[in-house]
Amino acid sequence: MNILNYINGEMKAANNGSVLDNYNPATGNVYGNIANSDASDVADAYEAAALAFPSWSITPAEERFKILNAIAEGIDSLRDTLALAESNDQGKPLWLAKNEMIRAGQNFRFFATAAMQFASESHAMENKAINYTLRTPIGVVGCISPWNLPLYLFTWKIAPALAAGNCVVAKPSEFTPVTAAMLGEICSSAGLPNGVLNIVNGLGGSVGQAIVEHPKIKAISFTGGTVTGKHISSVAGPMFKKVSLELGGKNPNIIFADADMDKAIKTTVNSSFMNQGEICLCGSRVFVERSAYESVKSALVAEVLKMKVGDPLHAETRVGAIVSKPHYEKVLGYIELAKEEGATVLCGGGALHPEGFEGGYYIAPTILEGLPFDARCNMEEIFGPVITITPFDSVEEVLAMANATEYGLAATVWTQHLTRAHQLAAQLQMGIVWINCWLLRDLRTPFGGVKSSGVGREGGLEAMRFFTEVKNVCVAL
Ligand code: NDP
Repeated sequence: MNILNYINGEMKAANNGSVLDNYNPATGNVYGNIANSDASDVADAYEAAALAFPSWSITPAEERFKILNAIAEGIDSLRDTLALAESNDQGKPLWLAKNEMIRAGQNFRFFATAAMQFASESHAMENKAINYTLRTPIGVVGCISPWNLPLYLFTWKIAPALAAGNCVVAKPSEFTPVTAAMLGEICSSAGLPNGVLNIVNGLGGSVGQAIVEHPKIKAISFTGGTVTGKHISSVAGPMFKKVSLELGGKNPNIIFADADMDKAIKTTVNSSFMNQGEICLCGSRVFVERSAYESVKSALVAEVLKMKVGDPLHAETRVGAIVSKPHYEKVLGYIELAKEEGATVLCGGGALHPEGFEGGYYIAPTILEGLPFDARCNMEEIFGPVITITPFDSVEEVLAMANATEYGLAATVWTQHLTRAHQLAAQLQMGIVWINCWLLRDLRTPFGGVKSSGVGREGGLEAMRFFTEVKNVCVAL
């Protein structure tokens, strides 16, 4: 499969004619290639977007609603094909990819409705004046997304940008470009005018960088690693671009002895190892109240040992392949580091080579015990199927450990004690706190992190506001 750029409604090779290999992480084999574009392709994409903007920005909300809904329907109707493509490209279990394709459609459906409901404010000054706020589309915006939830996160940015009336130059991760290219075709079939969405493939350092540096792309919505986010800020800041950054996490999962343990353990296994632990919201540091520590530990290990790791297309697989060889080596490197830091490996602890998939990138779900809370493996994002487990004796102690990292994306708290739950929710330095659940998402809620986990929020009105420019008009009475 050869992945081309989608510019002005057409599929095109990179201007320089060069391509990159695309790997299937389940086998380690090359199964296609992708356009290895550069700044000239980004310039073409910008030109197409700029040409489309005057008309798209004044397209009535009802019309945008209809087109975005038609895109959602296109995604729904190709759900199985998209899911298979995503699983082959990313390494995730097929059943999980199918769930994510549902969400990709929902993203478009949700923001189609937002286009119809979005409104601005008015502030009356008694007898003196009336102020009203105009919220207009920004222009051409850049959307850059990562490899872990490829279409799910790509659509989460593009849908609100389009709903708010912008035109988009977007870049999927070089590791997972396939479903983004399929989305281009879906958009054309759904009647999205040429140039409104443009997708440029290639490396972050060339295509991503060119989008961020482009003087006329006025806003950047980025999801990815904290180091890349810092770099993007340093480029976009002096150009006074609007920037939304959804970055890494090192999320605490706090289990009190009074928790509903069946639910806590079942959900913790999911929140630790879903998508091979490659979800920014995965809980990677499990803290358990000391009186329940040994029983929670044994139950978690027993559940994890039951999980089937291997062929992502097999219906019973719970943990598929790690996305790429470099990331696989990075995660294995962290497991070795944890051993050097004094961790005891309770289960997993290394690579797996399932029969028939010996060239793929598999890592056994790993639980580590005995690390100090400030060990590197407890402070740095590993982004793989690796968690640590640590006992605690008091609310103060667990709060200090939970807040100790540079990250502040999400936390989960398991307790029946309402007051404690609310107090912790207020004191945890995170953008999202789940009480007795995980990844329960309402698309209207603000989504994002504090500290090194990001700047700004996505979701609902926050996303619509990000993708609009605000002007106050004051009329004297
Ligand atoms: P990266 O930061 O490596 O890449 C993200 C995207 O940015 C990719 O498309 C990448 O391209 C591109 N990119 C790389 N360098 C540049 C550059 N100089 N300028 C512009 N774009 C660039 O992240 P990963 O893909 O490795 O994704 C994993 C990370 O994403 C994790 O840290 C995870 O926590 C975070 N994440 C955060 C979420 C959140 O909502 N907070 C959600 C999901 C993931 P290429 O792939 O071609 O290098």
